[in-house]
Amino acid sequence: MSDIIVIGGGPSGITAAIKAKNKNNNVILLEKNSSPLKKLLLTGNGKCNYFNEVFSTKNYHSNNIDIVNKIISDKNLNSVKDFFDELGVIPKIKNGYYYPFSNQAITIKNVLLHEAESKGIEIICNSEVLDIEKKDKFIIKCFDKEYTCDKLIVSMGSKAYPKTGSDGLGYSLLEKLGHSIIKPLPALVQLTSDFKYLKEIDGVRTDVYMELFEDNKYLDSEVGELQFTNYGISGICTFNLSNYVTRGLDEGRKEVIKINLVPFIETLITPWLDNYSKKNSNKNLTELLEGFLNYKLVNMLIKVSDLKGNSYYKDLTNEEKLRLCHNLRSLEIPITGTKSYDSAQICNGGIPLSEINYQTMESNIIEGLYIIGELLDMNGNCGGYNLTTCWISGLLAGKDIGEDND
Ligand SMILES: Cc1cc2nc3c(=O)[nH]c(=O)nc-3n(C[C@H](O)[C@H](O)[C@H](O)COP(=O)(O)OP(=O)(O)OC[C@H]3O[C@@H](n4cnc5c(N)ncnc54)[C@H](O)[C@@H]3O)c2cc1C
Repeated sequence: MSDIIVIGGGPSGITAAIKAKNKNNNVILLEKNSSPLKKLLLTGNGKCNYFNEVFSTKNYHSNNIDIVNKIISDKNLNSVKDFFDELGVIPKIKNGYYYPFSNQAITIKNVLLHEAESKGIEIICNSEVLDIEKKDKFIIKCFDKEYTCDKLIVSMGSKAYPKTGSDGLGYSLLEKLGHSIIKPLPALVQLTSDFKYLKEIDGVRTDVYMELFEDNKYLDSEVGELQFTNYGISGICTFNLSNYVTRGLDEGRKEVIKINLVPFIETLITPWLDNYSKKNSNKNLTELLEGFLNYKLVNMLIKVSDLKGNSYYKDLTNEEKLRLCHNLRSLEIPITGTKSYDSAQICNGGIPLSEINYQTMESNIIEGLYIIGELLDMNGNCGGYNLTTCWISGLLAGKDIGEDND
């Protein structure tokens, strides 16, 4: 009988444990919380966007995107679908985004725990691992107990959202075992700004096209809903761009978001506005802009363009018209930082993919050690991409162990 230990009962760890268990091994999962899968319950606003079948490297961030490409293969994506099919989860699928049909994250938690229990996996909660040593076997040290095992799966999560249990200790324990770490930074997170008018537009949600410029060079763009807050910007588009911003700011680059507040205007904006103002010639500037923008944005735009709300568009100088059009089309929001790990959905960075075997998730540095889930430098955008990598890496590691001496 071989002994397998999994540290961390998140989505990746539970999946790996389920797949690793066979009749010739003992699988123990150590979880520091009183119950596993605490973070999973928060995902997708409690509905759990657990998978995305539409893979594009554009949705991932890593220092080794070639390996991401190999890990998120069609074969591995299909194995996730098969896994949930076997667990009896009926999905609700919208544009490739998977949710449980129940619309409840707890459905996914319950099926996983039920499967783990029925396979005879021992889940030991309230067991915080403090240290790992590798001699002949792995020695896992908790506060009042030590465990030994032949194979070890580390699935302790990142530093994001520490109140769910993942506080970043996994990185230091793996570093001690010889792995290197690409500095983890908060990602899928709100961005802060010193834009002067934020307090006035706090709470406004609006559909935009937004572009990220790093050191004045275009980097990426997003289309969707943006939320202005009193500290900066939020919303899914912001979260996705935060994956670049967090690294750029940490490495001293200048990050600016340019917002097109009128994405519905498909032609050049100046003739469009000339034409629109002629049709609405009895309206002053405030009244004119309120025809298509939130009133808080109108007041901010008039101020940021240095105009007067009671003036008329036809009376503006060419320079004033250009200023207004520029701010409508390309409002500049300088980014000063990100919110902290406490509100970040994931971490950007982690264990370099070059240090693991991408087919099995086994460490290239220590035999018998497997690293999975968000600990890896393989970070996705919003849309189920992060859980997708957790299931895939968990399945790969578990399968490698489970089929070893079956
Ligand atoms: C609010 C929020 C919403 C999200 N929504 C989505 C979504 O809809 N779709 C999506 O794809 N992704 C989403 N994510 C991201 C996704 O939840 C994570 O990427 C995923 O949970 C990571 O799984 P993991 O198994 O690597 O780690 P985790 O889920 O963080 O699990 C790690 C486990 O290890 C345990 N642990 C840590 N240290 C120790 C220790 N020393 N000893 C013992 N146990 C330990 C922790 O308690 C925890 O249970 C969301 C994240 C958040 C915070």
